[in-house]
Amino acid sequence: MSHLPQCFDEGQVEVKRLVQTQTALIWLAKQIFGPGSTPQDLVDHLNGSDLLEEYPISPSGLTRMREFSRKLALGVPNKFTMCPVNSVAVLLHWRVVGNLLNLLTEEQRARFKAIFSLGLVPQLQSLASVTSPKEVGPTALVTAKPLFRQEEAEEGPMEAETPPEMPSPAMEQGLDVLVLDEGASEFDGQSLAGPISPQAIDVHCHLDRLQLRQFGKYLESRSLEDTLKPGPQQHPDQSFQLVSVVSVHCDPGTYPKVTGQDTRIHHAIGLHPKKADQFNQAIKEKICHLPKQPQVVALGEIGIDQSTPPASWVRQREVFQSLLKLKPSGLPVVVHCRGNAMDEKKNFGAVAHCLAIGILDRHCQESKADSVSDMAIHVHCFGGDYQVLEAWLVKFPRAYFGFTGMVARFTSQQKRALRRVPEDRLLLETDAPYLSPRNNRISTPNDIGEVAYLVSRIRGTTVESVLATTTANSQALYHF
Ligand SMILES: [Zn+2]
Ligand SMILES: [Zn+2]
Repeated sequence: MSHLPQCFDEGQVEVKRLVQTQTALIWLAKQIFGPGSTPQDLVDHLNGSDLLEEYPISPSGLTRMREFSRKLALGVPNKFTMCPVNSVAVLLHWRVVGNLLNLLTEEQRARFKAIFSLGLVPQLQSLASVTSPKEVGPTALVTAKPLFRQEEAEEGPMEAETPPEMPSPAMEQGLDVLVLDEGASEFDGQSLAGPISPQAIDVHCHLDRLQLRQFGKYLESRSLEDTLKPGPQQHPDQSFQLVSVVSVHCDPGTYPKVTGQDTRIHHAIGLHPKKADQFNQAIKEKICHLPKQPQVVALGEIGIDQSTPPASWVRQREVFQSLLKLKPSGLPVVVHCRGNAMDEKKNFGAVAHCLAIGILDRHCQESKADSVSDMAIHVHCFGGDYQVLEAWLVKFPRAYFGFTGMVARFTSQQKRALRRVPEDRLLLETDAPYLSPRNNRISTPNDIGEVAYLVSRIRGTTVESVLATTTANSQALYHF
């Protein structure tokens, strides 16, 4: 199969390769069936046609399919079959994926091979803009701009502390002159050749609250660039392309009325636990309706926050349970979990986390739509220790963990937990306008590079690797 990229090679079983293969399948689905399509659409297409016959799968192929299913928590069937295709993992077989390549143009096939043979996360949006500029909408990428930093203090939620020194990141050594293989050179030298910056996704920021801080009011139509402009810009040493954000709306007053205008902005809709007492029929109806709108990718943030007076905790639990019932099957949930001062200080919020895990577990037992084995959960702003991390993963294998600028102030136990987060479960977020990696400053999604840098130092890897992994994970979780 001359058009298949290296990430489909049978011998590849490391997590990074498997995540890259999954990203390749998502890319393929989007090329064939359009935005929002998933690898399951590829499976459905094959099963709806009679293109495939049963064919023996080699032992190394079977190992890879099993690893893919296990590491990406897809469920492992007793036997993998091609007729019908009984798992997304079967798409890893050259014979199966080859049938799908026939649906691509020659140029798309060459592009597919070039990108996924390079060991880098693909430029999903910039590729799309080359193939079909009209589908992508406004400028696909926010690129590095001259430094414009707001040094003055803005009241943040964290205690003042000396900000960490910012040494030159490993990124300086650069990825990034891509060497094209033969397949690529025939179609495109421009979009792939030459230096590029790694892509970054901020999977949790509050653009509404950020605008309130920056401009005094929230304007839904304000562009991402304009929203970010008055705040801190990218650190000059950190070149990355902010390709997407998930803007979290948990204040009923600023739920978006129109979504889908800016293809880089995705939305999560929820109710912050601190606002649980506002929950009423009107909010319930809005939350039921909003997930049907374009680019609404999650329910949340919802959860537990025991930094409030204990009298409010019972209501928080009830509202958390009620909100979960409104979630359509398959939609990820963004969970906020914060214990009281003692719990946070002594247990890294273990009491609050266990409470949230218990409520989610009960929800899965009572719900027909969700199960513990496949419920997609984004535990946002994670600051737990290893025990807390384990508690989540034992119960919910599809729990992802978002890390913010708070990592700049992590204790050794929290750092240990961060090191133990599985590669395919790691996410980056800013929680802008809060939790800047540098205290006393408003944060914006432009801080995501600094968060990546701090995470890379703790995990003993490079910024590029953290950005590649977390971009692929964000796309896998939120399907964009
Ligand atoms: Zn939160
Ligand atoms: Zn938040």
